[in-house]
Amino acid sequence: MQNSAFDLKEFHWMVEMVQTIDVGLVVLDREHRVQAWNGFMENHSGKGGSQVQNQVMFDLFDEIPKEWLSQKIESVFLLKNRAFTTWEQRPYIFRFKNYRPITGTAEFMYQNMTIIPLMSLTGEVTHVSLIIYDVTDSAVNKLQLKDLNNQLKDLSRIDALTQLFNRGYWEEQFKHEYLRYKRTQANACLIMFDIDHFKRVNDTYGHQAGDKVIQAVSATLKQNLRETDIAGRYGGEEFAVLLVNTDAEKALFFAERLRKGIEALHVYHEEHDICFTISLGVAQTHDEMTDESIWLKESDTALYKAKESGRNKTCTAALPKKPK
Ligand code: GH3
Ligand code: MG
Ligand code: MG
Repeated sequence: MQNSAFDLKEFHWMVEMVQTIDVGLVVLDREHRVQAWNGFMENHSGKGGSQVQNQVMFDLFDEIPKEWLSQKIESVFLLKNRAFTTWEQRPYIFRFKNYRPITGTAEFMYQNMTIIPLMSLTGEVTHVSLIIYDVTDSAVNKLQLKDLNNQLKDLSRIDALTQLFNRGYWEEQFKHEYLRYKRTQANACLIMFDIDHFKRVNDTYGHQAGDKVIQAVSATLKQNLRETDIAGRYGGEEFAVLLVNTDAEKALFFAERLRKGIEALHVYHEEHDICFTISLGVAQTHDEMTDESIWLKESDTALYKAKESGRNKTCTAALPKKPK
């Protein structure tokens, strides 16, 4: 008698603990009907135990992907093994609001879940239990860290003055593009360009005016780019643009449009109205290129020719003659 009184007391303690523990506990039968529903589940779902008792869980919560979860549950019944899901696979099972003070920015509670088989005395699995963990704090921390890392990655790729790719990242892309050309034989063009007599702008109007000119050139360049073009600030007042899937004729058209666009610009600094031009060199990929530095050199030589022949011009590198 003494003993069973103690058992009963112990059982009462267990129920109390299950009821108040800070994880969600749900017991389902073979037909996914709710057989147990603890305080955590009541508080977060707003549904009391009596409301959910014997109801099919999928009917109560239509946010739960039925097919996916019932497959998991089925495997627990069959294999008598545990199954797990993480917030990284699926942010939540039950869409509960997030009330955490520190990670209050998260709209919902991130959840991990364990499904455990519940065995009867005969060793048969008649029920499963879902254990729901609130992992919002660590999920949000991890996501914020990822976001920060992405921002850092962007920062290390982007030139601060122009918001174009910086030289290091642009060169990486340039190498990729060259290899892509070698693999696919789809032509691409490289355009190098440089602001004409830029030193004069600095000397006459000051370095700040020079910076504004560089920014105006970059903005016009960006307006002319397609999604797939790769533009970078190659040096102080030198720029490089990769036009993928483009032949020399189309690249020349692009270059001339850019040149004219920049010729028409006015930069206002203090009381000055500053106009300027650029010179451009275009080089298309061809069979005789043995590495990417040849491509770069051909474009640079074409740019030099444009400068030599009076500036505010586009020159195109000649393609090697095909043997007859
Ligand atoms: P060219 O027509 O032959 O290109 O003549 P240039 O005067 O443009 O060429 P040069 O290479 O002699 O001068 C480039 C100048 O650009 C020198 C350098 O001080 C200036 N410069 C480089 N980077 C920056 C920058 O970020 N801001 C400013 N304001 N000036 C810069
Ligand atoms: Mg220069
Ligand atoms: Mg220059």
